[in-house]
Parts: sequence; C-alpha cells; structure tokens
Amino acid sequence: VSKNSEGTPKWKNNPAHSNGNRPQNIRRQIIAQQRKSLPIASVEKRLLDEVRKHDILIIVGETGSGKTTQLPQFLCNGGFCRDGKVIGITQPRRVAAVTVAKRVAEECDVELGQKVGYSIRFDDTTSASTRIKYLTDGLLLREALLDPLLSRYSVVIVDEAHERTVHTDVLLGLLKDVQKARSLEGRKDTNSVALKEENNVQNHVSLKPCQGSKLSPLKLIIMSASLDARGFSEYFGGARAVHIQGRQYPVDILYTHHAEPDYVDAALITIFQIHMDEGPGDILVFLTGQEEIESVEKLIQERVQKLPKSSQTLKVVPIFSSLPSEKQMLVFQTAPPGFRKVILATNIAETSVTIPGIKYVIDPGLVKARSYNHRTGMESLIITPISKAQALQRSGRAGREGPGKCFRLYQESEFAKLADATTPEIKRCNLSNVILQLKALGVDDIIGFDFMEKPSRTAIANSLEQLFLLGALTDDYKLSDPVGSQMARLPLDPIYSKALIVASEFKCLEEMLIAVSMLSVESMFYTPRDKMQEARDARKCFTSVDGDHLTLVSVYRASAECLEKSRLAGSKEKKAEKTLNKWCRDNFINSRSLKHARDIHCQIRGHVEQMGLHISSCGDDMLQFRRCLAASFFLNAALKQHDGSYRALASSQTVQIHPSSVLFRAKPEYEPWQGNRWLILLQMSLLSFGEDQNGVIGYRSNFRAEFLAG
Ligand code: ADP
Ligand code: MG
Repeated sequence: VSKNSEGTPKWKNNPAHSNGNRPQNIRRQIIAQQRKSLPIASVEKRLLDEVRKHDILIIVGETGSGKTTQLPQFLCNGGFCRDGKVIGITQPRRVAAVTVAKRVAEECDVELGQKVGYSIRFDDTTSASTRIKYLTDGLLLREALLDPLLSRYSVVIVDEAHERTVHTDVLLGLLKDVQKARSLEGRKDTNSVALKEENNVQNHVSLKPCQGSKLSPLKLIIMSASLDARGFSEYFGGARAVHIQGRQYPVDILYTHHAEPDYVDAALITIFQIHMDEGPGDILVFLTGQEEIESVEKLIQERVQKLPKSSQTLKVVPIFSSLPSEKQMLVFQTAPPGFRKVILATNIAETSVTIPGIKYVIDPGLVKARSYNHRTGMESLIITPISKAQALQRSGRAGREGPGKCFRLYQESEFAKLADATTPEIKRCNLSNVILQLKALGVDDIIGFDFMEKPSRTAIANSLEQLFLLGALTDDYKLSDPVGSQMARLPLDPIYSKALIVASEFKCLEEMLIAVSMLSVESMFYTPRDKMQEARDARKCFTSVDGDHLTLVSVYRASAECLEKSRLAGSKEKKAEKTLNKWCRDNFINSRSLKHARDIHCQIRGHVEQMGLHISSCGDDMLQFRRCLAASFFLNAALKQHDGSYRALASSQTVQIHPSSVLFRAKPEYEPWQGNRWLILLQMSLLSFGEDQNGVIGYRSNFRAEFLAG
C-alpha cells in the first residue's frame, strides 16, 4: 500500500465508495437500518455510562449482537477519541481485523485508513488520523515494545477473549500492568510521595512514560461471546460484567446415524441435500483449512454442472486467513438472484465474523489447532475435535435471522464426549516467541507473571532453554544484547529471526530474507492431479540437490528475474504482474503464495534495514547460506541412521522426509557410516507435521529439508 504525503493510505477499491452495486445513498440507508436493528443499539447510552464508571468492564454478548462493529463507534462518539486518542480493538484473527475495519469504515462513511483502520502483521492501513484501530492481539503486544504505556490509546478493547489465544492471555496480563502504571502516572503530579509506596506493579514491567505527555487512565474492555464471564471477572479482581441480550431463533440440530468415515464427502452430500430439499437460505460449512476449502470448492463446482438446468444454483464463497482481503469481503455480499450462497469457512466464521443470511450450518465437528508436545519440543497444527462450546457457537450461526438448521456430521453420542470448552492456547503451544517478547518488555520473572492460566513449568523451562540455545538469552536468562533484543524486534519465529541475524554476519542476508519469506507462506508449489508429470518436470529447473531451502531461493530468484525482464522490456507494473502470473502457471507455482512471499519479503527487509543489519548477497556461494541455516535451525536437526531412517537430535524421535520435499526422491550419496557426518535439517514450520497413531512424525505439507555437512 502506498501512502501519500499526509501519511494516508491510498486505496484503489475503497469499500466505502464501491461496495455493492446499489446507489450509494440507498446503501447508506440500508446500513443505518441494519445498525439500528442490532441488539447493542438499544443499550448504547447504558454501555457508555458503564465504561465511564468502570475502568475495567467485561462485556458478554451473543455473536452478531454488534459488539465489535458498534462499541468502538459508540465510544468515539462518546468522547473517547478526544485529544487525538485512539480506541484499539484487538482481534485474535487477521481476517476479522480486516473485514470488520472495512465494514466500520463503510458504516462511518470514511475511507479506510482515515478515521478507521486496521493493522495486522505485514499490513498496516492506519494513519495519523486513525481513531478506531482494529489490530491483532499479537500486534498490540508488539506495539507495547515501542510504547510500553500504550499512551496513544484511551481505550483498549480485547475482543473475542473467549478464544483465549496465547497472545490474548499475555495481553491481559500486560494490560493489567499498563493500566496500573497509567493511573499512577496520572497521579504523579499531585502526590509523588504516595506514588513510591504504591509502585508495586504486579508483573514488574519496566514502564517508562513518553516524555512530556500527560496520560489519562486507560480504559479496558474485555469482550467475549461465551456466556460465562466469571473467569475474566475474577482475573480482574471482581470486575464489572454486563450482558447484552442477543436475539436467537430456534435451531434444529441434526446428527448423523452412523459415524462418517469421510467428513469432506459427508459435507458435500449434505450441501447438495440441503440445496435440493430445503427452503431458501444460505449454507455455512466449517472446514479445517485452505487446502480443504479449495478442494471442496472444486468438487462443488464439478457437481453443480450436474444439477438440473432449471433449478437454482450454488454460489461458493470461501473465507480463510490467507485469502486476499478483497476476496474475503465477498462473503458479505448477498448471492445474485437464482443462486444460493455456500460459504466454506475455517473457524473464523464461528464467532469472529458474522455473515448475514445463513440458515443452514454444516459442522463436521473439527478444527485445526495448535498442539505442542513437550516431550519432543515440537509444535504442530493438527485437526482435532471441537469443544461443546464451539459446537454451540457454530449451530448458533444458523439462527440469527430466523429459525435454522444445523447438520452435525457426527453422532449424538460423539457430541456427549466432547470437552466442555477448549483448552487455552497457552497450554498447548511453544512459548518461545511469547517469552522473548515478555523479556523484551522487561518481564524477567516469567514463572511469576500473572497469567490468567499459567503454562506448565516444563513448557516455560523448555522455551527458555530454546531461547538460550539460540543465543537470545544470557546465562542468567536475561535478554542478550544485541542478539536477543534484535530477535525480539522481528515479528517472526525466533528461529527465523536468528537465521536473519546470523546471515547478516555471514554476508548472505539477501538470500536468508528470501528463504524466510518463502518459508512463511503455505504451498508454494501445486501439482494438479492430471498434470503430475508436467509439474514435476517444470520444477526440476529449480530443484537443488541440497534441499528445499535452496530450491525455494531459486524459485524466488527466477521469479524476480522474470519480473525484472518484463519491466526492462518497458512493461507497466500491471503487465509485468501478468507476465509473472503466466510464469507461475507455466512452472506450477502458486502465484498467490508467491505474491504473499514477496509482500512479506518487502516487510521483513524494511525491518532489518531499520535495525541496521547489513544486507548483502553471497551470490552463488551458497555454502555460507547453508552454514547460517545450520546455525539457526539446529534445533530441528536429524541424523541419518544406518538403516536409512532419520532421527531428530533434540528428541531422538524417528522422523520421515515428506513426499513433497526435494530430498524425498533424491537418494543422497553421503552415508554417515562412511565417515562423513551428514545432518539433515528439518524445517518444521507450523503446518508441517503431525504424529500418526504410532507416534511417528509424518510430514504433511509445507515441509522443507536441507542437507548440511556436519
Ligand atoms: P459481534 O461482535 O457482537 O459478534 P459484529 O459487530 O461483528 O457482532 O456484527 C454486527 C453485525 O454487523 C452483524 O449483523 C454482521 O452481519 C454485520 N457485519 C459485520 N461485518 C460486516 C461486513 N464486513 N459486511 C456486512 N455486514 C457485516
Ligand atoms: Mg465480534
């Protein structure tokens, strides 16, 4: 996004002026009508009073009642944006931050990036005039690094707190402290003696106020869709909780008679059954991820061809986090006449975004969630059963505008076995990233930090050890300088940050920037089933016998060359993009993933430049680059055994090379028992593996491996 001289982003497709095809004033009237009819509209005054009276307020309300879109506007109109102050609303999901900000900009009839904006990792649309700012919870944590008192904010709303993401949990602890520190700051002028006695901020954050600013107290609002506010209220010392009465129509819940062996197939059959047998209304299907959504989309398109010509047909709209944001907005558009809308969504549609028009929900009862194995120190995204609370939220989506139906693709007996609520993420993830950030914020005693739910000591100890091994912490577990503080400044997994820092020293940062960007996106290659051989042949010219990292660097370099050539030949930017897209098609590269990687590359490059890291290229001498990989990814190293299998060094677990890796086919000639010690580095990115029933880690996708001389 380019910004003009006032620092305001310029938007090509501003939804405020181009969304939908109705004349603008009619659309405005419709929006005003929609806003007025939301349950929250009737309690605007009461809510404002509550916020004025209480510094911490917990708001509980059914999904769709208008909390996320309306409350910030109420507060802004109620004077909380005076003196240039900002209302921050955190979201656990990027998609929610983006779509909601766009919607609210439209409701306020302003351009996105002016009064209303969003800020997510690698994409910031806010400007100096932004007053209502939607951002991810992770990003607010990052902001606290630069501005520990969050001095620009008058109100921070932690939204979707029931999701209990690791960032939300850490944020809650931090905000508690920031709030105390801010109120102390406010009183500083009047009573500096009393201040000394009271200055025992619980989490020991070293909070330095901004020079010369007079700080007002920070208002804290915790919003949740789960009806149980007790946990939050207790955590905040018996804070006031208010409930917003929602409107919920009855939803018929249907279960399958038998266990469904293939939920994707069952979902497909159900979609068409609803379409043929049920009355009008859109269908929402919960799936587990991008690849699944894309394959279901294709299957629906194929089957739609076989529908009787005369009948109404289906319009499929997907929504998942890596979908480009213009496409994400399509889910909110009503289907054209003669079409029934089928929304294929990840968990995002459970509570984060509310899509109008849904009457039927199909729920396979699964979700892709983070899971961490403390024994092996490995984190994975695995498909797991949802909780009862989630099942309830999902079925609730069918009853917002009238009576609806929810088709659970499992048996009633299975429902009874589900856990009541989801385990907070902090209990099932690698904590390295969070600990690094807390350390950078001045929280040294991680075990003593006031977490809403404390992670286990083992988990904390493992992550501390990992950070120590990466050189981010000193012997006494303090943030090291400069490596630790540099790592904390990069919005990346600590291993990636380390790779960049080492690469700067070894003069191959140019290449490492490429590798890290390419590793940050999913599915760079695609292999259509009917063109497997062609795809394989096309890939050969990039394939490096040394492994996936080098292969990815080759792909990026080749794509950059293609773009450069096209530009040199005088092509305008649009034409050059087109040429690149064609190049991607010819080479079976996922153009969307590549574009995403290029955006990320640009952002991380900006970060390392700002940090003053030295960017240079090692040209064709990739040995340096591979050394840097070894120096940073060593926690993921595996050693080839005599029988040809691989064993992870950190956990002694047997691991396998994923079929998608270039090393799967290549039969490396080096054998460890011939005197050479060859290590294989396994790039275990989040999406890359899961354990099978035997406890063997099988790499699913997005897996990269690299051979390195020991
Ligand atoms: P809550 O936060 O209480 O779950 P929201 O404020 O997100 O509720 O949603 C309120 C209403 O705004 C819902 O009816 C929803 O359909 C509508 N809405 C939210 N985002 C959009 C959007 N991008 N386009 C159209 N309608 C939207
Ligand atoms: Mg909401």
